[in-house]
Amino acid sequence: MSETIHKTASCKDDYDPDSITPDKALENIFNAITPVNETESVFIRESLGRVIASDIKSEINVPSGINSAMDGYAIKGSDIPAHEIKKLKLIGTCLAGKNFLDTVNEGECVRIMTGAIMPEGTDTVVIQEQAIVAGEYIDIGNDTKPGDNVRQAGEDLSIGDLVLEKGMRVTPAEIGLLASLGQAKVSVFKNIKVAFFSTGDELRSVGEVLDDGAIYDSNRYTLFGMLARIGVEIIDMGVVRDDKELLDRAFIEAAEEADVIITSGGVSVGDADYIKEILEKQGTVDFWKVAMKPGRPLTFGKINNTLFFGLPGNPVSVMVTFYQFVQPALKRLLGETVYSPITMKAPCVSNLKKRPGRVEYQRGVLEQDETGSMVVRKTGKQGSGILRSMADANCFIVLPMENEGVKEGEMVDVQLFHGIV
Ligand code: AMP
Ligand code: MG
Repeated sequence: MSETIHKTASCKDDYDPDSITPDKALENIFNAITPVNETESVFIRESLGRVIASDIKSEINVPSGINSAMDGYAIKGSDIPAHEIKKLKLIGTCLAGKNFLDTVNEGECVRIMTGAIMPEGTDTVVIQEQAIVAGEYIDIGNDTKPGDNVRQAGEDLSIGDLVLEKGMRVTPAEIGLLASLGQAKVSVFKNIKVAFFSTGDELRSVGEVLDDGAIYDSNRYTLFGMLARIGVEIIDMGVVRDDKELLDRAFIEAAEEADVIITSGGVSVGDADYIKEILEKQGTVDFWKVAMKPGRPLTFGKINNTLFFGLPGNPVSVMVTFYQFVQPALKRLLGETVYSPITMKAPCVSNLKKRPGRVEYQRGVLEQDETGSMVVRKTGKQGSGILRSMADANCFIVLPMENEGVKEGEMVDVQLFHGIV
């Protein structure tokens, strides 16, 4: 790289020949990852948030038998009258979990509750609101069609159906499905360990006195929150001062313990920014600048088999780079393959400033306007130190590399926090 190029590329510039595009950065990260393949069997409640390790097929029909979808009367469909009212003789009651053993003949009916198995000879349920009880008889009209209000066996899951796929993350619905198959345990991929620490002489932890020029360390807390949501095992290594020896030791310790190391701060070109230098010494640097805003000085590499993410120091940059790169990486490492954040286009009701040369991730609020249409607006000041812009937002507004700003009313790409945050 020539001297002149280095001189022209500062934080204030948007084009930077040393930077790689966000797409290329993600590609490099994915190429560096070998997903976990060890598995373990856990009770289904413990599988929440874990990744399914092998396809699960149904060995039973759910529901197991033909049953009533409503409270009412089980009848023969052929007994439904064409016009007039018809009287049917009530011969018994059929409750969920208690089978009715007699056969129902023409002109007869059985009181039935939701979930009860349909008695022999019946195929239709007249809901109780459409039947008039008259002693030992009920009167029905023609509001019901043959086959109405009945659930077929295997209607939810049939024997042999693929219920859960390898690579899916377990959410409450999946736990429910596993339970409905009667499965007490499930095979999931082994969890991973993630170590993280903040760097900076100016950082104080919550509870400490804030002396002159100091700030509280917020990155360790946002990182804790983001990692906890993914469900990885967390190793919080605290704050490490801007001291080469201390950082060197922290790197060695973290690489011994963890599958992934995440640091924040110390990746720019300041006099006390040592992260890249130490990563070069102990492992390999894959890239160290991404053409994005916020978050350009992002260092990625490896120490032995441990992945290393040196995130920038600014609080918004930490969150943006985490969601764009670290989260997809951790998910891939955990074996998750069924993962796609929700993206959409929406008209932007704010003017957005931008210069070409970097992909920008502005913080936005996607909401309904007075007519009920979805529109997006920015959250206010967009500086990389303004963490409120993340707290107030429910989406990223993603502006492509060459974009030169957005005028009110123009369509923009939106990445919803729902599903990623
Ligand atoms: P650096 O990349 O170390 O130069 O940090 C960039 C900016 O982010 C500086 O203003 C730092 O004070 C700030 N910063 C770094 N780490 C943290 C942290 N853990 N919490 C809050 N702010 C931080
Ligand atoms: Mg620093």
